Amino acid sequence: MTHDFETDSRQMLGRLRSVMAEEAAGQQRLDRITLLIAEEMRTEVCSIYLFRDEETLELCATEGLNPQAVHETRMRLGEGLVGRVARTGAIINTDDAPGTPGFRYMPETGEEAYRAFLGVPIQRLGEMLGVLVVQSREARIYSDEEIYALEVVAMVIAEMAELGAFVGEGAAMSARHQQAVLFRGTSAQEGAAQGHVWLHEPRVVVTNPIADDPKRELERLREAVDQLRVGVDRMLSTAVGGDKDQLQVLEAYRMFANSKGWMRRMEEDIDRGLSAEAAVEKEQSTARARMSQVSDSYLRERLHDLDDLSNRLLRILTGQGNQTGAEMPADPILIARNIGPAELLDYGRSLKGIVLEEGSVGSHAAIVARALAIPLVIHAERVTTEALNGDKILVDGDQGIVHLRPDDTVASAFRDKMAMQAQAQERYVSIRDKPAETLCGTRVTLLMNAGLMADLPSLDSSGAEGVGLFRTELQFLVRNHMPKRAELSGLYARVMEASKGKRVVFRTLDIGSDKVLPYMKAVNEPNPALGWRAVRVGLDKPGVMRMQLQALIRAAAGQPLTVMFPFVAQREEYTAAKAEMDKALERERILGHPLPASLEVGAMLETPSLAFAPDSFYREVDFLSIGGNDLKQFFFAADRENELVRRRYDTLNVSFLTFLESIVERCKSLGTPLSFCGEDAGRPVEAACLAAIGLHSLSMRPASIGPVKSILRRTDLTELRRVIHEARETGTQSVRPAVMTYLRGKL
Ligand code: PEP
Ligand code: MG
Repeated sequence: MTHDFETDSRQMLGRLRSVMAEEAAGQQRLDRITLLIAEEMRTEVCSIYLFRDEETLELCATEGLNPQAVHETRMRLGEGLVGRVARTGAIINTDDAPGTPGFRYMPETGEEAYRAFLGVPIQRLGEMLGVLVVQSREARIYSDEEIYALEVVAMVIAEMAELGAFVGEGAAMSARHQQAVLFRGTSAQEGAAQGHVWLHEPRVVVTNPIADDPKRELERLREAVDQLRVGVDRMLSTAVGGDKDQLQVLEAYRMFANSKGWMRRMEEDIDRGLSAEAAVEKEQSTARARMSQVSDSYLRERLHDLDDLSNRLLRILTGQGNQTGAEMPADPILIARNIGPAELLDYGRSLKGIVLEEGSVGSHAAIVARALAIPLVIHAERVTTEALNGDKILVDGDQGIVHLRPDDTVASAFRDKMAMQAQAQERYVSIRDKPAETLCGTRVTLLMNAGLMADLPSLDSSGAEGVGLFRTELQFLVRNHMPKRAELSGLYARVMEASKGKRVVFRTLDIGSDKVLPYMKAVNEPNPALGWRAVRVGLDKPGVMRMQLQALIRAAAGQPLTVMFPFVAQREEYTAAKAEMDKALERERILGHPLPASLEVGAMLETPSLAFAPDSFYREVDFLSIGGNDLKQFFFAADRENELVRRRYDTLNVSFLTFLESIVERCKSLGTPLSFCGEDAGRPVEAACLAAIGLHSLSMRPASIGPVKSILRRTDLTELRRVIHEARETGTQSVRPAVMTYLRGKL
């Protein structure tokens, strides 16, 4: 067969456009499409299979097969040749369908008469919608041109499906993006939220997949690509000398934007009758389909870059920017593939929840979400493809589960859960101004962790007695430049002012490991958590530390000041850091700035080594604070960022508790004030156990203060300590079961 397929393809698309424009029910449209494809491609059979549900494909229209089989023939994903195309996204082109591995004979269709089979996926932006099949009696292989033409048509069918062109009554297809979908992701910040979808990057809607005038479409594409290239070059020139990763992404953008292959494929698609937008989207769909297949992280990143670039190009072509004019719905739940900390801060507390496709528990966005106490679920695969602006959505940050467009039963169960949480919150408010005094009369000091100005109002609302850990790195992380000393001292002064005389423990910059500053030269380390981080960076490159210490002294402006150095592993590091503090004080004195009325300088105990430091160290520091997150990861040699191991070891493991107890004892005997500021301090059961072994100053996220205070006020620490010690005597691995039994009986 020697057709001029370019012309055929255009003609086919021209006829498709008429079908789209006609007033017709969804089923009629599907029937007409199969007929016209069969005619145009001069093949006996054309069938459209669409997904009925996530696992089932249904024959929705056919020309050539038995019409009785329509809406009757169904197959599972992966079943038969059609199911295989849908599962793999790969084309099947064979001259011997019955002899092809996986072929499944469907007697009701009458397809045994056809030997040649060509199946192409109907997919849109990586989402598999169905399969388009042509078959013929003659045993032949379809040509590349025919395959290409069918792919282009499949692309248009996908767009039509997206626009709801096949929606109809009865057996016809239901509208897309209307069913309930459940996403199982990973919890990165607890809490429950209900609200409405707000897409961080609104989806571009392509309403004209078929070109009226291919010449004009080619011009539009070229103009848009030119504009894109100029934009990328501009971004590159401003980013030169900046962050390596950002430069790498921009270089990749430039490479794709100038890629001849990319351009040529899009031009060919337009020649075959697609509009410029549809041609871009076709390339984007291919990239997304590949993205789900490749496991190599570098390659995946590059495919993501191509995806981003395609989005930019689509925005240029459609004029649909991020500002689509859509109004943010009530109770917005942000949906994004990923998001940077600064962008997240821009949304601030207006968000009720966040759902990301990517991200990690320790990412900057997660740190900010935690600081703002907004429930966050990460690794919710495909949520950006499924969700539409305004859709109802429930976020269960405790379980890492998201319900999109939930049905009534799920929504009402969720409301019950939220009501219970709200009730508990009310209980916590009623004890807000009461002390965290246990039944045995021990007063436990409950402090909060903070890092952003936005955290400070929680000091009043939570009932915290002060800020036990102010993570100063957050201010560095949310900027794209190194903050200036004046900027920092202004900020610290505002923090002190907002704390109204309550003690704030400022921790000096804790960067490195998972906290990488976008504007500092990244160091490639094999084990970043064990690498060049926190006080190690501060001492090796003291410029930033000096600047920060000065900013803190100036912010205190003669009031009391408390500073803590992170990740001190041995005494000398503390001594050297303290010497920097003394030098900073001296410099400030010479410059005539007022010195703090009182100064406390402490260290974080985050490495087991410090637990065994000489007595002189314990006497030298003004206080110590256990950074339980890091201490636990090093104690168990289990990376806190690694999903495979991070939940493997229990904080209430006997070895760990015994270790913590030994630190408490040392501090007691040497007179060193001690507190605990890891995440475990905010978990009620863990907090009660920490208090029972003698940790009477706990710093946690503000939302945890109520629950922790509530449990402490109902606990007798002497009894709990006895339960812990008795459980330990039994040789158990963790005291949790015994503690839970005890607490359940008491609370
Ligand atoms: C810790 O390690 O417990 C800690 C509080 O510090 P960060 O979580 O910021 O590393
Ligand atoms: Mg730490």
